[in-house]
Parts: sequence; structure tokens; C-alpha cells
Amino acid sequence: MASVIGSVLDKREHDRSDILAMLQCSEEDVPLLYRRAAAVRDRYIGNTIFLRGLIEYSNMCGKNCLYCGIRRQNDKVVRYTLTNDEVIEAALTAHRLKLGSIAIQAGENWSKSFIDNMEELIRTIRKLTDGQLGITLSLGEQSRETYQRWFEAGAHRYLLRIEAASEALYRKVHPDDAMHRYERRIECLRMIQETGYQTGTGVMIGLPFQTMSHLADDVIFMRDFDIDMCGMGPFIEHSDTPLGVNGADNLFMKERFNLTLRMIAIIRIIMKDINIVASTAMQAIDPTGREKAIACGANVVMPNLTPTKYRPGYKLYEGKPAFSEINEQNISGLKLSLIPGTTLGLGVWGDTPHYSRRMARI
Ligand code: SF4
Repeated sequence: MASVIGSVLDKREHDRSDILAMLQCSEEDVPLLYRRAAAVRDRYIGNTIFLRGLIEYSNMCGKNCLYCGIRRQNDKVVRYTLTNDEVIEAALTAHRLKLGSIAIQAGENWSKSFIDNMEELIRTIRKLTDGQLGITLSLGEQSRETYQRWFEAGAHRYLLRIEAASEALYRKVHPDDAMHRYERRIECLRMIQETGYQTGTGVMIGLPFQTMSHLADDVIFMRDFDIDMCGMGPFIEHSDTPLGVNGADNLFMKERFNLTLRMIAIIRIIMKDINIVASTAMQAIDPTGREKAIACGANVVMPNLTPTKYRPGYKLYEGKPAFSEINEQNISGLKLSLIPGTTLGLGVWGDTPHYSRRMARI
């Protein structure tokens, strides 16, 4: 008997009902979905896996997202900010190991000193690496001027996850106050794109109250926003947060993991030439989670370069894997034997062809 999902996969364009069909396809059809997604990646952007050395710069955050372990009101967190020397050392390690790019991530901080210092850090890293090390930022909602300053200093990619594209769901997982407005998140994503960054967003999968219909809307949101990069991961409870209690309606971890793999495969099939991260959160559920994400279409991995002593302080969710230091012997932390047919992209930025095509249209 012909596969039910086969005819959906063979379509050139996919509408909402196709996305729902892929999200809900039978277990028998899942391997076909994953294989097709990996084949789309190989055809449109190749089989190279790109690396971004992750630097968790600071866990200070002015916001209070209901799911996040480093939210402002969690007073159990020991707060830290790396020194500039520590950031530069991590960046130089990335350069020495030929990771090609770094990603600097932190809680939201809108102070003048933070913004000025970040600009200075970006310029210094670019100078010390002769402009060879790519810089991605994930520093939340900022003003247009701040996005512009950091872009001019040399950052070229920015990730701001929408977390839930449905406004109603977004409101359920964020406080109802002026600091956590859905419209502001969208406005910031637009400003990031207009500034000229390669623009990334993503969602959490398995949130309380989330339905298949929400996930289909998430895919449509990312497609219509024409994003260049996607970072998605399963929702994992953190016990020191309002959403940390494992509610009766919450999906089992395995279901969230499998749904995340499906979402990665679907995004790859629909947005063929973007960069898609195999997130660390996948590995929190399954030790080979990142390898499984790559096998269904992801093409970016983020080895952690944060100095080890700070890592316990950057737990957005519980059970975050404690990786060992990255070194010459273990550049990616990946078990490459589990993902046959792929290679590591060393010493390159790993930019998405989608970005060049998008900019050519402007
Ligand atoms: S998700 Fe980001 S903005 Fe929200 S509390 Fe956590 S670090 Fe802050």
C-alpha cells in the first residue's frame, strides 16, 4: 500500500493541512518524513554540519518568562557575568579550534554599560581574529539603535525566539505586563531583519496548552517571516518557575522529543535552505538527541565554550547536559558515527544561502 505521507511530501508547496498531516503522520511514516528532510538539506545546502561556539555571557535578566530558570524573580540563581577577558579567551578558543563562528547569549539587559560593552567586545573579537570569526547574538529585545550598533560593530546573525507564534499561547507563558508584549517581540524581529542580520527565531515544543494547530501556526509563522535560521527545542520544566510543575496535561518527554524531530523535519522540507540548529535541549532528553536532529534535517550544532565554573548558573531548563570542555579531540561533541553522510564545516561561517537570496530580493 502506498504511504499516506508520500503524496504530501511530493508536493512542491505545502499548506496548513499538509503541515498538520506531517505533524500527525503515523509512526510507520515517520522514517520517510525524516529521510526526505535530510535529503532536502543535502540537496539545497549540502551535508556539512556547521558549528557555533556558544558563550553564555551572563545570566542576569530583566524579564520573567514563566518557563525560564534564569527569570528575574528566581532568587535561587547565583548571578554571573563573564569578564571581557573570559569572553575573548572563549572566542579565541573557537577560532583556534576552527569552529568558524561564536554565538553570544545572555538574559535581557538594556543598560547603557551592557550595550556599550557588547559593542566593544564585538569589535575586539573581530579585530583579534582578523574578521574571520563569525558572531551570532542572542541578547533579546533591544532598541533599533542597539541592533544597528552591534551590527555595525561586526555581529551578523541574531536569534530571537518567538517561543510561541500564537499570540494567545504566547500570553499564557509570559507575564501579562508591559515588559512581555507579543507585539514588541514581533517588532524586534522585524527590526533585526531590517537591520540586515541573518535572522533567526524558533519555538518551544510541548508547552502546556499547546496543540497541533499551534505548531502548524508556528511553521507558517516562520515561513511567512522568511527567517534565515531556526532554533527550536522541547519545553523542559524548571522547578523554580511558574510553569515548572509538571501538569497533568503536559506531554511526556519522549513525545516532546519526537514532536521536535517532526518539527525540524517539516521546517526543513518547507524552508529548504535555512540553517536549523540541533539544540542542546534535545540532548537533555536523549543522549544522542542532537545526532537524531541532524538525521532529520538540522545542520548546525553549538558546542558550549562557557567557562565550566559558570555553566551551572545558566540553566534555562532542568537536566541541561553538563558537557566537558571542547578541545582538539572533541571539537563538536557530536557522535559523528551516528550521522553517516555528513561532514563538519571547519573554519567557515556557515552562512545560509537563504539569506543571500532574501537580500537579493530587497
Ligand atoms: S527566556 Fe530569556 S528573556 Fe525570558 S527570562 Fe529567560 S533569559 Fe530572560
